[in-house]
Amino acid sequence: MKFKKKLSLTTKIFMALIGGLILGILLHYLMPQGHFRDDILVDGIFYVIGQLFIRAMQMLVVPLVFFSIVDGVRNMGDTKTLGSIGGRILIYYLITTAIAIVIALSIAKIINPGLGMKVENTSTAVDLPKNTKISFTDTILEFIPTNPIQAMSEGNMIQIIVFAVVFGIILSKLQDRVETLGNIVTEMNDFMMEMTKGVMKLAPIGVFFLITRTFTSLGYDAILSMITYMISVFLGLAAQLLLVYMLLLFVFVRINPFAFLKKFLQVMTFGFSTASSSAAVPANIKRLEEIGVDTKISSFTIPLGATINMDGTAIMQGVAVVFIANVYGIKLTPNDYLTVILTATIASIGTAAIPSVGLVTLSMVLTSVGLPVEGIAMIMGIDRILDMSRTAINLTGDAVGTIIVANSLGEFNKEKFKNSSNS
Ligand code: ASP
Repeated sequence: MKFKKKLSLTTKIFMALIGGLILGILLHYLMPQGHFRDDILVDGIFYVIGQLFIRAMQMLVVPLVFFSIVDGVRNMGDTKTLGSIGGRILIYYLITTAIAIVIALSIAKIINPGLGMKVENTSTAVDLPKNTKISFTDTILEFIPTNPIQAMSEGNMIQIIVFAVVFGIILSKLQDRVETLGNIVTEMNDFMMEMTKGVMKLAPIGVFFLITRTFTSLGYDAILSMITYMISVFLGLAAQLLLVYMLLLFVFVRINPFAFLKKFLQVMTFGFSTASSSAAVPANIKRLEEIGVDTKISSFTIPLGATINMDGTAIMQGVAVVFIANVYGIKLTPNDYLTVILTATIASIGTAAIPSVGLVTLSMVLTSVGLPVEGIAMIMGIDRILDMSRTAINLTGDAVGTIIVANSLGEFNKEKFKNSSNS
């Protein structure tokens, strides 16, 4: 008897991605613009189905993060382990982001995107969301939620993490006195993981419609005029992925980095199609668990990374600085480059893990070295495709850091990694 081989989730998601890409390009060129294509397909069917999927993923984030952190901290039993996870992951996040910007600046200085380009529409007002200012004192104060329920309803990741950690510490301290509550937390954690698996099964459909929509409405002419800028960003992202992350995995964890890449492709594709590392948090935690990282570590480091660690975004910002300086004919000094490294690292911390926010925090980086914020208008039109790509890198950086930290604490199960399927 012949059995039809079941396609793995990764294969299905990947096929959806390629299918969406082809269909999107075909629709863009073969179907005339107009009510049917733009309103009924692009902003109707494609949009609704894609968004339904993104919302289903977002639905999981807050409860999954909360229960898995509480459960993880409770099982850890001591605050010392928690401290060393936190300390290690923060160092990793900061250093890799700084490396990312240095790579981006170097590549951009070699390719020099925007050189010889004329500034068009200097008068274009950049329509950025209001609260783009990141104040240091506010950032510190906002670690502590004044109302944990509000923090959850707003999906404020850092505040949820802080509250969940405190909750978990007290649960482990009170032990038998709160046994029922502890069991409820563990069961809720299992429950949310199961729900995540269920929603992930829908990923191929969601990815297909998200990608089709993007590629149908993409401005290909605009892409052509910005090609050197885009290539510089892509090269930066590729270098971060294939040199930095792969090397780190090889040196610190001693696993085959390409085996990791294969196993992790599923989550990257997912980040690529949603352009939101926050929506990808559940998928990331679930996949890491399948390849050997206990959720007691990932439940803490992944949401934290989604919030503060954005290497891909930092790369875009580094390249954008050189591009805008070139277009406006402004010379940057070595001091300016140092400022960019510092501000882009801070901007990466302040960038929310949802689509396009990297462009918003770019204004802070540009201002720090006296470049015109209007420059953002030029890169806005083509940013979507870069946003998708950098999001895939952002969440890979979080996963690599999580594996390195787990391994350094003896919590990475290499056998499970080797035996896990690629899907
Ligand atoms: N979309 C990115 C993310 O979610 C953030 C950005 O760079 O705009 O990671």
